[in-house]
Amino acid sequence: MPHSSITTIDGSQGEGGGQILRSSVAIAAVTGRPVHIENIRAGRSKPGLMRQHLTAMMAAARICNAKLTGAELGSCELTFEPQSVSPGFYEFKIGTAGSATLVLQTVLPALLTADGASQVIVEGGTHNQWAPPFDFLTHAYLPQLNRMGPVVHASLERYGFFPAGGGRIVLDIQPAKQLAGFHLCERGAAMGQTARILISNLPISIAQREADKLKRKLQLKDDDVLIDPVSAHGPGNLVFAEVRSEHVTEIVTGFGRVGASAERVADEVVRGVRKYLASTAPVGEYLADQLLLPLGLSASQPPACGVARGGSFRTLVVSRHTRTHIDILQALLPVEIEVTQEDDGFVIAVRPSDVGTAS
Ligand code: AMP
Repeated sequence: MPHSSITTIDGSQGEGGGQILRSSVAIAAVTGRPVHIENIRAGRSKPGLMRQHLTAMMAAARICNAKLTGAELGSCELTFEPQSVSPGFYEFKIGTAGSATLVLQTVLPALLTADGASQVIVEGGTHNQWAPPFDFLTHAYLPQLNRMGPVVHASLERYGFFPAGGGRIVLDIQPAKQLAGFHLCERGAAMGQTARILISNLPISIAQREADKLKRKLQLKDDDVLIDPVSAHGPGNLVFAEVRSEHVTEIVTGFGRVGASAERVADEVVRGVRKYLASTAPVGEYLADQLLLPLGLSASQPPACGVARGGSFRTLVVSRHTRTHIDILQALLPVEIEVTQEDDGFVIAVRPSDVGTAS
């Protein structure tokens, strides 16, 4: 049984996935307050810790010298008791094609305000379904994070696709003293649209069929669609559409997979892009749930001269991931998060609980 001063989080709440676990531990690492998570990933068909989650837990524990109880494959309960954060050089190997970007997103918050620079290398999957692909991390997520003060740069040394894995991502982090909040309610000027198709160990005709469909349905010119044959341990195919605006970039991803034709994968991307373009909201479904954690950490900081705490963004849709994430942040941090429906999208405001309006 965990000690009574430890906050317990129910991993079966809301969406019931790995994000509840990763964010709870990421917050514990930043605040130094222990957390106990039960019913881990109870909403998934294979509940409990999988290799990716286990690696994320052990990585977070190493970075803040935490005592970790229950960290075993399949475990549905875990206690994380952190000490102080040690920036520096770290290398973690998932050992499967589990998502490297999700492991990185778990350890990154603690290193953003650490008292020194860090380099973190994670080996595993770099382009997994149900996780942010590397390109989403670099084009959509990190530019927003870098608005907050730290300078984070990611590079891809090797691609890793499911099921072969073997990818490698390097993250360099220059921390800041505080995380400055921001508002992202407008896209700003349209800056263009392009697409990129990754293909590895598969016939190039798959990528060509995807490219044809994208060009036809999204009115993209030949030069705007890049077919990128890459080398990796196993087969892989992803279709990315990038919609660039002055203040934000949206990445819509289609995952090539057994049983889905090239046309179907391209169509999924076309639908995602059309949905985004039909709205004026800057933040897409996935970026919305991912921005909540850094904004929540910003809002939870003590007041500092000239640094905005928290902020807001306007998103197309409030997913179950987003709703669940809001509940987790409010349970673990002194923040208030308000969702307001507007004519075109939803505004999500994240504020310190000690003030009435967003700073
Ligand atoms: P979970 O399902 O709880 O493990 O969380 C998955 C995380 O991956 C969430 O933060 C999602 O926003 C993110 N995610 C899933 N699919 C995508 C995608 N296609 N692009 C970007 N992020 C994604």
